[in-house]
Amino acid sequence: MLFGRNKKNPIKIADKGVVEWKYTTCGYCSTGCSIEVGLDKAGEAVASRGVGGADVNRGKLCLKGIFEHELFRSAGRGKTPLMRDRYFDDFKEASWDTALDKVAAEISSIQQQHGPDAFAIVSTGQIMTEEFYTLGKLARGVIGTNNYDGNTTLCMASAVSGYKRSFGSDGPPGCYDDFEHTECLLAIGSNLPEQHPVIYWRLKQALEKRRFPVIVIDPRVTMFAQMADMHLPITPGTDVVLLNALAHVILDEGLEDRAYIEAHTDGAQEFAALVAEYDPLTASRICGIDEDTIRNVARIYAKSGSAMTIWTMGINQSTHGSDGVVGINNLNLITGNIGKPGGTSLSITGQCNAMGTREWSSCSGLPGYRLLEKQQDRKDIADFWGIDEEFFPKKRGLFQTDIFPAIETGQIKGLWLIATNPMTSMPNTARIRKTLEKLDFLVVQDAYADVETNEYSHVYLPAAIWAEKEGCFTNTERRVNLISNVVKPYENSKADLWIFNQLAKRFEQGRKIRFPESASAVFDELRHLSKGRMLDYSGMSHQKIKAQRGIQWPCSEADETGTARLYTDGKFQHENAKARLIALPFVDNNERPDEDYPFWLNTGRVVEHFHTRTRTGKLGNLNKFSPTPYMEMNPDAARELGIHHGGYARLTSRRGDAVVMVQLTHRVAPNSVFIPFHFHECVNRISLGLLDPHSRQPAFKQAAVKIEAAASQAVAAKNNATSRTY
Ligand code: SF4
Repeated sequence: MLFGRNKKNPIKIADKGVVEWKYTTCGYCSTGCSIEVGLDKAGEAVASRGVGGADVNRGKLCLKGIFEHELFRSAGRGKTPLMRDRYFDDFKEASWDTALDKVAAEISSIQQQHGPDAFAIVSTGQIMTEEFYTLGKLARGVIGTNNYDGNTTLCMASAVSGYKRSFGSDGPPGCYDDFEHTECLLAIGSNLPEQHPVIYWRLKQALEKRRFPVIVIDPRVTMFAQMADMHLPITPGTDVVLLNALAHVILDEGLEDRAYIEAHTDGAQEFAALVAEYDPLTASRICGIDEDTIRNVARIYAKSGSAMTIWTMGINQSTHGSDGVVGINNLNLITGNIGKPGGTSLSITGQCNAMGTREWSSCSGLPGYRLLEKQQDRKDIADFWGIDEEFFPKKRGLFQTDIFPAIETGQIKGLWLIATNPMTSMPNTARIRKTLEKLDFLVVQDAYADVETNEYSHVYLPAAIWAEKEGCFTNTERRVNLISNVVKPYENSKADLWIFNQLAKRFEQGRKIRFPESASAVFDELRHLSKGRMLDYSGMSHQKIKAQRGIQWPCSEADETGTARLYTDGKFQHENAKARLIALPFVDNNERPDEDYPFWLNTGRVVEHFHTRTRTGKLGNLNKFSPTPYMEMNPDAARELGIHHGGYARLTSRRGDAVVMVQLTHRVAPNSVFIPFHFHECVNRISLGLLDPHSRQPAFKQAAVKIEAAASQAVAAKNNATSRTY
């Protein structure tokens, strides 16, 4: 026996009494981890574990996934439909028939009085692809409102817009396997270890086998920046300037892939003329990165045999988010880094099925990346659904961020929110509250009755959550994963698919269209509608997806395993099959710190929580590690203001104020602070959210604030409860 072995106190893993493990896919982020939920003898979910044979996560889960089974019986779940006449009355329980009759009647009444677009729908990135498609059928083919949008507008709209402008279509070209091949990784505005821990682990695994430079561009010294070979602490909101300067150096020094540019792109001349203005010295004065570093990064990137760029909200949530994505695509097009192993642009998506909504929900168009603006696309879908093509509008309606102002002005009278929580997620909380109070009718469909936005609803519909139902999610790398049904829906909650189908029956137009009842029958419609297109599902089925632990589209009928990368042949989705190099003049149009509001306010995530904490805020193990909102502040700046570590500070912007606990850290510059966005009545009381002109995505990450010491938490709580700045 080895010395001391019998003296050790080994960790004991509690026996949870699991008698069966059921396969499914994680329902939080877009990484798409395969997960097994353990059921005990009574059929209760008591454990979660990663699936070893799944390519995405190879047995790993992050903190959220490990405790995901606790969601099924977590506090705040909705048990039965609720109704009331006015939002400040008490709710009364209702039957599903009564609640759905009421919703259908209110929609019809508002549309008859004020026109079809006076009723708006805003959905999510959380429900299954089959549910998104069915909701789109209901919204576009039955209810007929054009003011229908999803959570994409707060999250990935800039990526969608940038892909479309550069490549002619949405659809991330790369995949996680690119980490295994790349010779240079550039990450912009992505704190991968906290936002997407399992993708980060895939990157680390690749780095353990083979060294390659990792360059992180972020105003804050994030966890990712700490492990990087180079960290570029960029001035907030100036990504386009830096990207133009990198392109300037590459073209100036002849480091571009001239053959690729000539064969596969348009617009090279205009692009070269524009970036000629962004020499490193001029750029350094705007973006805060010195000219030597700009030159070094440009050379490293261009001279790598293959280089890739990943990004998240640091790029997207900006007044020029779409331009930032186009700038990344420009960089990869001039260096020939699209469609080859290790050479790509790869947006790291947020919600578990943010991709599914982009593909199939019809929010921004029609199913399968079809456009309302294209007559043939309208005809394809109208014929398949069996309705008149003229029922569809000829261009998309309002984005989510324009729907709320349209409520303010009285253009929109009714709203249906599905698994989304604007009272916490939208910028300028006070303005959103006022908007919701103004609605004639608000229906909230959510797994949680205590979601903040439900305080303003007239009808609440309790939805089943995650693996209480079945269907598919698409992850960041276009992999379609299966969510199998693990347990029954909680109490009297129902699957979103069932709710959409039941509501459709209550409209005359809904009785003209076929609404399949099972997710697999809906999936057959997706296969049919995508056959032969870039977004091709025709070779997939629920059974094949489960057997392979996910399949990446395009997957044609003849294809067994799907496709890892797009544009490998250099043919893009614009009409002439070429990608576009697009000149991006920098427009400095955001709020900036000044004498009155001298600090940059940056927002982001923590690893323990997901979005507005509707789910993770209910789980003890996650709250234990991250129970309260806080602000990261530089110690030097704090000292000048008499603010102490662990004390409280009040932030004030031109919109409102919030009081938070202070963590002193050199992660943030003396003129910047950072607050996680997950907490209600916190950072979005002060955020501005100016909109990107292409994607209409808000600039959550750049606002100007002033800061002062706050006396105590009690004062803070009192002031947070009473302060309403409009
Ligand atoms: Fe779930 Fe994302 Fe964590 Fe994977 S990384 S377990 S998908 S939250």
